[in-house]
Amino acid sequence: MENPLTPEVLADPVALTRALVDIESVSLNEKAIADCVEEVLRKVPHLTTFRHSNTVMARTDLGRSSRVVLAGHLDTVPLNNNFPSTMRGDLMYGCGTSDMKSGVAFALHLAVTLPDPRYDVTYLFYEAEEIESRYNGLTLVAEAHPQWLQADFAVLLEPTYGIVEAGCQGTMRAIVTTHGERAHAARSWHGVNAIHGAGEVLRRLGEYQARRVTIDGCDYREGLNAVRINGGVAGNVVPDRCEIEVNYRYAPDRDPAAAEAHLREVFAGFDLAVTDAAAGAAPGLDAPAAQEFLAAVGAAPIGKLGWTDVARFAAMGIPALNFGPGDPNLAHHKDEHVEITKIRDGAATLHRWLSPL
Ligand SMILES: [Zn+2]
Repeated sequence: MENPLTPEVLADPVALTRALVDIESVSLNEKAIADCVEEVLRKVPHLTTFRHSNTVMARTDLGRSSRVVLAGHLDTVPLNNNFPSTMRGDLMYGCGTSDMKSGVAFALHLAVTLPDPRYDVTYLFYEAEEIESRYNGLTLVAEAHPQWLQADFAVLLEPTYGIVEAGCQGTMRAIVTTHGERAHAARSWHGVNAIHGAGEVLRRLGEYQARRVTIDGCDYREGLNAVRINGGVAGNVVPDRCEIEVNYRYAPDRDPAAAEAHLREVFAGFDLAVTDAAAGAAPGLDAPAAQEFLAAVGAAPIGKLGWTDVARFAAMGIPALNFGPGDPNLAHHKDEHVEITKIRDGAATLHRWLSPL
């Protein structure tokens, strides 16, 4: 296959988005797109390029006092009659247009066209973000080449519709179990009904007042919800056990230990076991590179409510945020599309931020 990422295409973020969308790259099928990206980057004299599996990393080494990461995943969710791309007026439709080949196009365009950025830049094009974490290119690189990820600040070019989304909330799942004693339903006074015992758990959930927290000017809204309930033995048995699964989304001023302590407080007197937890990420907007980024964007940041790969950077002590042209509400939709003006505006913003002083 001839590489569609020609110099003319690389010079235009819109044409580049379209060319990237038209290289099919559903998760675990990123070889072709990674080959094209790697081939382009290896020819750029101001970059040093590396590859691990289907993740490609290129970086400048200009001796600048700080280093920033621009990162985007190369994979998409499965196609849904939305390949290849089509144009309708100011909109480009197709799988990956929003999530997130328009963001990848920013990074690739800048990597090729900006020989003397204000900071040293690490450009990361990684595989398998849309599937389980063990396949994620950032997971693999963190294990094999952790130094590739070292930086003072990271921008993930995920869809945010041109707004800065900083930090992200943590998530925790736990099982609250109520215990009782089995008995024949005909002589139920001999038993203790564990499902009835769940009533108090549900009452506490119903009355729960979720926190709203502002950190670095970003609002985070927490949530605590029952997401599943399980109990019962047979139609004629008083049940001795009931499990209520709860999901807690917590603001990044709490770490998983603090989140667990909070759940134990809410469900005091009940048996509680945490089954899954992912730390959130503080917005970290006081880093100088982050401040200059916000100045270039010129609009206030908002808190990210879902969990994203910014948390991986935060776990390494690297402040990170999301900024991309796509509309996050369209990600993974059949009608996924991106606005051409959002691509042009976002690319101009990043140019402003990274251009030499
Ligand atoms: Zn994405």
